[in-house]
Amino acid sequence: ATPTAVMVASGMGASQGVLIKGGDALEKAHKVEIIVFDKTGTLTAGKPEVVSAVLFSEFSMEELCDKAIAVEASSEHPIAKAVVVYAKRLRHKFGSFTEQVLDVNDFKVHLGAGVGGKVEGRTVLVGNKRLMHSFNIPISPEVERYISENEVLARTCVLVSIDGKIAGAFSVTDPVKPEAKRVISFLHSMGILSMMVTGDNCATATAIANEVGIDEVHAETDPLGKADKIKDLQGKGMIVAMVGDGINDSPALVAADVGMAIGAGTDIAIEAADVVLVKSSLEDVITAIDLSRKTMSRIR
Ligand code: ADP
Ligand code: MG
Repeated sequence: ATPTAVMVASGMGASQGVLIKGGDALEKAHKVEIIVFDKTGTLTAGKPEVVSAVLFSEFSMEELCDKAIAVEASSEHPIAKAVVVYAKRLRHKFGSFTEQVLDVNDFKVHLGAGVGGKVEGRTVLVGNKRLMHSFNIPISPEVERYISENEVLARTCVLVSIDGKIAGAFSVTDPVKPEAKRVISFLHSMGILSMMVTGDNCATATAIANEVGIDEVHAETDPLGKADKIKDLQGKGMIVAMVGDGINDSPALVAADVGMAIGAGTDIAIEAADVVLVKSSLEDVITAIDLSRKTMSRIR
């Protein structure tokens, strides 16, 4: 496209809440054959809520909550915020009216898996099964059962381990965005395929994918794995767009022919993307493609 056409299209996009960085993305967007979606915060509202908590060992509910709050308070992840809100409420219910958040040392983010740190000298990990596996923390059949019961309901289980032992868990729901299903089916009608890549577990991911009509799911994928999926598709000669919102999506957003970041997402994702969907609506994935189609047909 000529610099003028790019400028005009960028202006039109901006007025609709679709920021397009540069002509390259604009030229490629109308050729996109498959769109890869992140799950949490992209297909789902990204406003997870905890619906229940459970204890698995000798620890008290208060201790579970205190430790989880301490570690999750340092995390930016929306799940972490939900855990903090719920655990604080639960702590009140169990008679402790403290607002105090215990100090955490050696806080560490394990991308796509959870967080960890030292609280009152104890090693605390908060995250999914993969996180626990990577630290060789045994998962009992009872915990396994709790996890699978929740996962088939599209709920994510947040496990909490204290000193190498699963102390308890929180069950989290994150409803899909109201427009998600309509957008996916419209894309399909345009001949554009869809795929989900997520760090979340297979059962939860599949339940969400079924709900919105995405038929190919790659779950339990770390950030570089997400980028590898994009490269695999490109290796098959496809033009690929990626839509995501998190730090964990940024390698994939960079790898994609057209990276689209959800406006409400993290700054790192927004920087990595070619297109920013300012209103955070999935409808604007279509707006961006339309804009590209119109611009390119005007030129040719
Ligand atoms: P998605 O790829 O769906 O956006 P993420 O890669 O951000 O998800 O996270 C993948 C999974 O890792 C989450 O579903 C959750 O199980 C776990 N996780 C990540 N960060 C945290 C955290 N701070 N607290 C609890 N669980 C977490
Ligand atoms: Mg996300």
